[in-house]
Amino acid sequence: MIQAEIKSLLKEDISILIKIPNSGKHYLCDCGEASLLTVKEVQSISAIFISHTHIDHFSNFDGIFRHQIGSGEKVVICGPKNIHQQVESRLKSYTWNLIDEKAIEYEIREIVSEEEINIYTLRPPHWNLELAKAQNFLFEDEYVNVDFAILDHKTDSIAYLFKEKDSVSFNENISGFRKGKWVSELKTAFENNTADKEIEIEETVYKAGDLFHLLTRNAGYKLGVIMDHAADEGNYKKIRTVFGGADKVYIESFYKDTDQEFAKINYHSFASASGQIMNECQVKEAVPIHFSRRYTESDQAEIETAFYKAFHKN
Ligand SMILES: [Zn+2]
Ligand SMILES: [Zn+2]
Repeated sequence: MIQAEIKSLLKEDISILIKIPNSGKHYLCDCGEASLLTVKEVQSISAIFISHTHIDHFSNFDGIFRHQIGSGEKVVICGPKNIHQQVESRLKSYTWNLIDEKAIEYEIREIVSEEEINIYTLRPPHWNLELAKAQNFLFEDEYVNVDFAILDHKTDSIAYLFKEKDSVSFNENISGFRKGKWVSELKTAFENNTADKEIEIEETVYKAGDLFHLLTRNAGYKLGVIMDHAADEGNYKKIRTVFGGADKVYIESFYKDTDQEFAKINYHSFASASGQIMNECQVKEAVPIHFSRRYTESDQAEIETAFYKAFHKN
């Protein structure tokens, strides 16, 4: 099951690490200050998902690539319009004369619209952008698919949904057969929906379809991260479409309800509004994140109380 850890302390900005258990694979959502993020974790990040490039979400990008250079790996960076130019500018602001061209490769995926993703590559030591191609999906690897919504925060702010791939499990207890390589053949037939495929078990041949009842499809876990956004219906329509029914969602709740006029001015959300939209999405678990830095621990407690009251309302 995918897990997320908030790596920023209360007075810091925001950075969330997403882990695929038993794989050593990590993804990072936003690059705010993150005292709890270790060098080892940074070195196993294979993709970075940036919501938007306000400084509180992007200032620690330098700290991230400082520990990635030299890995020889390809790291994907997804983000809103112009993310490729902003990453290029950051990298070009340092001197790289001692760095080998194979030290790292960044692949940048610029989200132009729901259907248009531009892919660029950036390599040391010159870091000149090369447009590789355009594609109509954002991110997929062997573990997850990543869906997204482009929210309004007076600039595009991308909210990401990590969808673990469905898995198929074998119900050994009800089978009555001994396990063997036929189990994986059956799973393959199930996934490809080839019910006629012949499966041999203990010298008897069966039709795969007659054995499908021994398998269960387990829906992949869905984990969302919704950063800065205005608390308005335009955004909520998109949030409902992408995040409805998700297992767990982290959502920006920057202001207390008593400060909601600031939320409106700054295209942010506030405690009960974020709790309410999570209630409407019927997500199983919701977590308020990214509080104004002027708030104390008791302000944070106030945000959490208002958030969960709205979230748990019938
Ligand atoms: Zn922002
Ligand atoms: Zn922010």
